[in-house]
Amino acid sequence: MEIKKVEYRPLFINGKWVEPKSGMKKDVICPATGQVIGQYALAGEEDVADAIEAAQKAYDDFWRGTTPAERSSLLLKLAEVSDDHVEELAYLESIDAGKPISVARGEAAFFSEILRYFAGICRMPEGQSAQEYNPGVMSLIRREPLGVTAGITPWNYPYDILGWKLGPALGAGNTSVIKPASDTPLTTLYFAEITKDILPPGVLNVVTGSGGVVGEAICSNPHVKLISMTGSNETGKHIAQVAGKQLKRVHLELGGKAPVVVFKDADLDALQETLRDISFRNAGQNCGHACRVIAEAGIYEEVVERMVKIAQSLKVGDITDPSTEMGPLISESHRQAVDGFVKRAVSAGAAIRTGGESIEGSGFYYRPTIITDCNQKDEIIQEEVFGPVVTVQRFTTEEEALYMANDVSYGLSGSVWTSDVKRAMNFACGLEYGTVGVNSHSYQALEMPWGGFKDSGTGADMSPYSIEEYTKIKHIAITL
Ligand code: NAD
Repeated sequence: MEIKKVEYRPLFINGKWVEPKSGMKKDVICPATGQVIGQYALAGEEDVADAIEAAQKAYDDFWRGTTPAERSSLLLKLAEVSDDHVEELAYLESIDAGKPISVARGEAAFFSEILRYFAGICRMPEGQSAQEYNPGVMSLIRREPLGVTAGITPWNYPYDILGWKLGPALGAGNTSVIKPASDTPLTTLYFAEITKDILPPGVLNVVTGSGGVVGEAICSNPHVKLISMTGSNETGKHIAQVAGKQLKRVHLELGGKAPVVVFKDADLDALQETLRDISFRNAGQNCGHACRVIAEAGIYEEVVERMVKIAQSLKVGDITDPSTEMGPLISESHRQAVDGFVKRAVSAGAAIRTGGESIEGSGFYYRPTIITDCNQKDEIIQEEVFGPVVTVQRFTTEEEALYMANDVSYGLSGSVWTSDVKRAMNFACGLEYGTVGVNSHSYQALEMPWGGFKDSGTGADMSPYSIEEYTKIKHIAITL
């Protein structure tokens, strides 16, 4: 696999590329080869302050006065430019995040769909109708932008999550400062380059660097009115604390530990087809990862066999080959973390049915892994592994299945598989998850919200509910 070095781009502030004041850079590593493929700039606190100042000025000077139609038309132009560069974006995302090229192509194409959705919905802000709620006084609702918003993104879906942050932020009339994850800055920087002649200076700013420096500086800056962050629970809780000191709004999309509850009357072929994708998509580095299969006693062994069959037949390897289904993990340290979970599960008494080890050679590959014989309170059941590791548990009663499904601190996505409509509906209502699938798993539509219950976060991405979070409502009362 030959990966060419990528052009260096520093920080994007006020419509220009600027070097960080420290002059410091860090290597970008390709997870599929372990090789250095480029460099990114390490911003410091002063650079972050400059980016936020530019965003504030752009908001005050002109952006807040734009009409929904003007912003919609700009979002459509951004989508078009992204489409024009879809191959370059897919390539960059593939080598930066270790995604098979066919997957990266799909994600790069989806990005423009996200922007098109927000280009439409930003023209239809919602609120109660203007009325006289008391005699002689008309009340009306104004939905106003917040000002400067920050988007802090993770490494597992860098480009699409940029769209989830940027679409509602700009559509609703805010300006934006984006901090991509340190491991995956390439597509965000490239997007800034290809759109620099479309967006007025200061509307979009990109600062790269560590969470500890750049992220902290963003979260503690009083001019930032919303922090929209997708990432781990630990970081999310920390950001909520920092933001809480200034009563800043936070929108947190965090981790998951999705259950897949399978009853005896389920269509196992459909289940197998779905889990082939969603249990190993992005090498399991997926917040909706279908990682906890909970199967009814009578079909348990068959479900285990089918999962083993999927894991052993997946095409894992060369990310430049369009037929590859699964790529590497993001880094060597993450591979060690995943392996640590598996080793500790085995020490606790679990059985590995297939996989359970790194793949030798270059890159950070890990074998698709199926684990059985776990206890409900085991770490492997309770904690997010974020790798190609799936457990299969057994249940005997419906109550037990619901208990096992809900007995984790996460609440992002879950599913139930059955052909009994009544049971499906009761179970779907009982699952404490923000997205519930009935004979589907982690199904997403731009028109529908994606957000977590419990420790999986606050708020929702996509849908009208998302754009609401990027606005504040004002009541104006007019004496007639
Ligand atoms: P992470 O928490 O390590 O980092 C996320 C982002 O936060 C990065 O840009 C990072 O630099 C930044 N950050 C780190 N420390 C910070 C600080 N002190 N202040 C401000 N920002 C800081 O997460 P990750 O490892 O990049 O991503 C994986 C996690 O994201 C998983 O838990 C996954 O489930 C979750 N995720 C959730 C969703 C969702 O929609 N709910 C989607 C994708 C990923």
